[in-house]
Amino acid sequence: MSDSIALLGVKGGPAIRPGSNMPTAMLLKLAGKTVLVDAGLGVTRAICDQGVALTDIDLIVITHLHSDHYLELGPFFHTAWTAGLNRTIPIIGPNGLDAYWAAFQDSMRFDIDLRIHDEGRCDFASLADIQIIDDTMTFDTITLRTMRNIHPPITDTFALRFEAKGKAVVLSGDTAYMPQMADFAKDADVLVHEAMLRDGVEALCARMTNGDERLRTHILRSHTDAADVGRIAKDARVRQLALNHFVPDGDPDFTDQHWEAEVRTHWDGPLFLGKDGMKITL
Ligand SMILES: [Zn+2]
Ligand SMILES: [Zn+2]
Repeated sequence: MSDSIALLGVKGGPAIRPGSNMPTAMLLKLAGKTVLVDAGLGVTRAICDQGVALTDIDLIVITHLHSDHYLELGPFFHTAWTAGLNRTIPIIGPNGLDAYWAAFQDSMRFDIDLRIHDEGRCDFASLADIQIIDDTMTFDTITLRTMRNIHPPITDTFALRFEAKGKAVVLSGDTAYMPQMADFAKDADVLVHEAMLRDGVEALCARMTNGDERLRTHILRSHTDAADVGRIAKDARVRQLALNHFVPDGDPDFTDQHWEAEVRTHWDGPLFLGKDGMKITL
């Protein structure tokens, strides 16, 4: 199994529309382990589309509690359970994830109890072992370092750096531009960074039918301009840069050329403009 990262969903934000990508999830294969990072809508199908069995996930990390990063976590587990999952998967995530997990089980209590008694399924609750995210954590031969990023008003929100066998993979999470990201991502084999186009945000907010000015304020103070993503990649001297969590996404007025032009103001190395299902070799 060669080391790789698959971008399962590259859209920023929870809404989907005709022509859009799916919300955030990534599938990392490193040092013989399969790690799911974030579990936005569509994650379960997307794992299967990578040719990976739901029962083969070894570790799950959730970066923060915006719905586009964990809306399908419970449904993933339930589906993996009916697909034969019979061992515990550790979930590393922020405070509050345990409440979601308990409430998800309550919401499905009738079905879960039914399948245990009527089909002889194993216990469901013990399939997940939720651990609160910490500065440095180890999983088998993988070291996970985390850094609190800038994504107001959320404070429990993290960038991730996975290291194993001389390889390093860095995921920005959802964050405003932070120069410290360059140190955190130093010499990484791949940096997957979120990205925003300001003009696209204006267009997105102009179309919104059930929000107000606060949405625009939130987006602009919580995400990173594509040009600054290029700056971080350059300062960090990463080997490859990939963009995900596109804001906007699915707007035909903002094409790959727009994104690339912004990133290229600073970065001239290998660049992947993420698409749902894109797999990058480490
Ligand atoms: Zn997000
Ligand atoms: Zn977010």
